[in-house]
Amino acid sequence: MRLFEAIIDANHRALAGDAQAGLHPGDFADELPIAALTCIDPRLNPLLPSVLGLPEDQFIWLRNAGNIITGPMSTTMRSLSMACAIKGAKEIAIIGHTDCLVGKTTTMQLIEKFRALGVERHLLPDNINEYFGIFSSERQNVIKAADIVRHSPLIGPKTPVHGLLVDTGTGKLDWLVNGYQTLESFSSRLQEVAKSAGQTVDALRSLADFKIGEMRFPDTKIGEIVTHAENWVSEKAHEFESLGGENPAEKKPAVPPKLPLPPPLRPRIHLRKP
Ligand SMILES: [Zn+2]
Repeated sequence: MRLFEAIIDANHRALAGDAQAGLHPGDFADELPIAALTCIDPRLNPLLPSVLGLPEDQFIWLRNAGNIITGPMSTTMRSLSMACAIKGAKEIAIIGHTDCLVGKTTTMQLIEKFRALGVERHLLPDNINEYFGIFSSERQNVIKAADIVRHSPLIGPKTPVHGLLVDTGTGKLDWLVNGYQTLESFSSRLQEVAKSAGQTVDALRSLADFKIGEMRFPDTKIGEIVTHAENWVSEKAHEFESLGGENPAEKKPAVPPKLPLPPPLRPRIHLRKP
């Protein structure tokens, strides 16, 4: 049994009342860590780790509203590919959830909600559905996302890409796309990729042309980018200070101080109006 088959098997057995059900991460050392994309819904905060049953350090968790992949070179694709390339993720899972508000909110409701926040319609993109990724089916949304990730030139041909749906009411996890199966049919696509290598190079070149300020990715190593970014942040911070920023809270030192440990959790005190 492979990793996600074991995860789903353990999930179903636990829901059926099997107190022994659980994953043995040691059995899957070659398939861990994994990278998972989920929605921003806070109900997933406690739910997802227990549904997957993976150790915290084996679980790279990416989130966006509606677990949407907008395109093969999108920013979420960038993060997923970096999760594989620099954090060693071996498998990718797009995990949708039931009762998703991104799917339930209509275009008109969304416009109204933005208006209530002081964001008028003309300030929103024209292609509002496409931009915010409004979808009508949670399942179709996951299937589409898994398909885009599978075919992104940024993802290696040997990396399984799964599509799953978790029930926020019960915690039940179900297959929508078995990434091990699509991987098998994917080997034939390798030849296709070889044929269309020119296109892939073009796609990567368009990414390489992407600039941030003075930075140019092709000429720069990751470490240098970080250094440049730090310098840039530092310069901006000094510029802001020299302007005599009005809001003291906005005045940040160039290097952020180390965050102190949070105080121990205390029970919340609810103030009630008399
Ligand atoms: Zn959601």
